Amino acid sequence: MIKFEEAQRLILKKIKRLGRETVRIEEAMDRVLAEEIASDMDVPPFNKSAMDGYAFSHRQIKNVPAVLKVKSEIRAGEYEPDKLKKTECLKIMTGAPLPKRTDCVVKMEDIETLKNNYIKIMKKPSFGENVCFKGEDVQKGRIILRKGAVLRGPEVAVCAAVGKSKVQAYRRPKVPVLSTGDELVEPDKKVTFGKIRNSNGPMLIALLKKMGISPDYLGIVKDKEKNLICKIRKGLSSDIFIISGGVSVGDYDLVPAALEKCGVKKIFHKLAITPGKPLFFGQKGGHLIFGVPGNPVSTYLLFLTLIRLAINRMMGTTLNLNLRKGTVTSDYSQRPGRKRFVPAKIKMQGNRHTIYPLREYHGSADIISLVKADGFMIIPDSITFLEKNSSAEVFLW
Ligand code: AMP
Ligand code: MG
Repeated sequence: MIKFEEAQRLILKKIKRLGRETVRIEEAMDRVLAEEIASDMDVPPFNKSAMDGYAFSHRQIKNVPAVLKVKSEIRAGEYEPDKLKKTECLKIMTGAPLPKRTDCVVKMEDIETLKNNYIKIMKKPSFGENVCFKGEDVQKGRIILRKGAVLRGPEVAVCAAVGKSKVQAYRRPKVPVLSTGDELVEPDKKVTFGKIRNSNGPMLIALLKKMGISPDYLGIVKDKEKNLICKIRKGLSSDIFIISGGVSVGDYDLVPAALEKCGVKKIFHKLAITPGKPLFFGQKGGHLIFGVPGNPVSTYLLFLTLIRLAINRMMGTTLNLNLRKGTVTSDYSQRPGRKRFVPAKIKMQGNRHTIYPLREYHGSADIISLVKADGFMIIPDSITFLEKNSSAEVFLW
């Protein structure tokens, strides 16, 4: 039995970042960039008006009030090819290029319009007033996004601004999901006595989809070695294969042996944590296999803390668990020896998290109670007693 931190280390050691693929930027949200993006032009590409107003050179105004003639008007997308005379200005709209020899824009609000296309300037303008200068955001050829950048809204917009409609991103892993157990029926099927519904299959598929992965659902397989081997072979060509159930020590927990018969090498089996102790992690060539115990609270915890970490690393992102400190609202005691994850309601009170361990929680099968929780309180393996009002670490989902 190994420690949780050791399991994390062993898993990360096995992760290789996946190859790259071309993705349209509209489809690239949350993807990790596998190339550097340079700007193909100066941004902005010309001196640009930041306001609706009047453009001229600040040197034209020695004293205020001053009067200038409005030569013409330019809108965004247009330009004025002629130079202005010293007595002239140009009406300009936000986003339009400043004509030659102009260097400031006076806002509509700061002038008075006179008859016959004249304006009166009331306040002395300064150089660069309300102007965005050519290349001030970025110069042509400069790298604006580095390899490894996660594409959020701004990054997608930046790619568009510099003419990259498609980018190279790290591939998302192929992740099949298999549920094992003679007792399992799918949620839309009739449950006869002795059977239960398959919670883990849909939960894992949904969690993977949230990460942008299109998982491959392999269904439910019976606890028979022949059937297991057949299904396992189907999943083994993937990047990360998740199998739920059948990894404990019962007579019908046949998954580790079946995996071995399929050529999977065990990296570790069993972790010093509660819940989730029977976790199996193995490898066949570049394919990684997680065998999670069937109780849904264990499956959920192991997915969030370990499997998700592996998947993120493969896609090029590093994931830090949302760990916080909080105050426990009741005494808590446990047997030492395993790191314990206790489902809890976690509230913000002031700037501190307050932890309410679920009162009615019947253990790792109790997925019903888990819906009341927001996270897990984490109790280190050495601790036997946590006093009310003491501080504990929480993992927020
Ligand atoms: P196992 O890990 O196969 O020993 O299963 C442990 C417990 O989890 C048993 O009570 C199973 O019935 C239950 N279980 C196994 N697989 C699932 C599943 N996919 N959904 C809900 N419960 C499950
Ligand atoms: Mg089972």
